[in-house]
Amino acid sequence: MSEHVFTPAATPSVAVAGSAARFPVRRVFCVGRNYAAHAREMGKDPTREAPFFFMKPADAVVDTGGSVPYPPQTSNLHHEVELVVAIGGHGHDVPAERALELVWGYGVGVDLTRRDLQDTAKKMSRPWDWAKGFDASGPCGPIHPVQAVGHPQAGRIWLEVNEELRQQGDLNEMIWPVADIISHVSASVQLQPGDLIFTGTPAGVGPLAPGDRVRGGVDGVGSFEFRLGPRPA
Ligand code: MN
Repeated sequence: MSEHVFTPAATPSVAVAGSAARFPVRRVFCVGRNYAAHAREMGKDPTREAPFFFMKPADAVVDTGGSVPYPPQTSNLHHEVELVVAIGGHGHDVPAERALELVWGYGVGVDLTRRDLQDTAKKMSRPWDWAKGFDASGPCGPIHPVQAVGHPQAGRIWLEVNEELRQQGDLNEMIWPVADIISHVSASVQLQPGDLIFTGTPAGVGPLAPGDRVRGGVDGVGSFEFRLGPRPA
């Protein structure tokens, strides 16, 4: 039997609503520009061209309820509230009509973004990773099993900063609904249990400051709350 040269890191995981059990995180896929109003605020025309994806490391996903560190190397950290799909099945080339069978549950999270780094990357045709995939860049509220919340197709998605409403939209405004997103991801990679998909953000993205209190949710699905830590020294 071969041994590791050191003890491997613990499997990243996220809380499950109403349970002490945890949802183990394998990979994190994120959809770009999936709400028309957000595409417009980013200076793009919303289209129904095929969705595009980027990733965060699995351990970017952290629990909410407490403090989330303010990341280094940015002076323009942005919030993007998103419905998070938690995959519980295996699937390759899954047709949209069968895609929801892969879903274990749903949560609500934030695709934290170092917007200044992203703007530079876009200008220089460089990857987005450093803007999107930093430590703790995916705070996520508890996952609610499908048995409890079904498959939400509509519902208000919102985010507040220090009790002020910043983002608001409705799941029914997604350019690509969840079933289509799963189908598209599974055409490129084999989806496996533990994969999470951040499904894009509605309009109203904007900056966060150290110490901000961030709350958000999707009505009928779930919510989260966290406080941002101090700016790193
Ligand atoms: Mn996003």
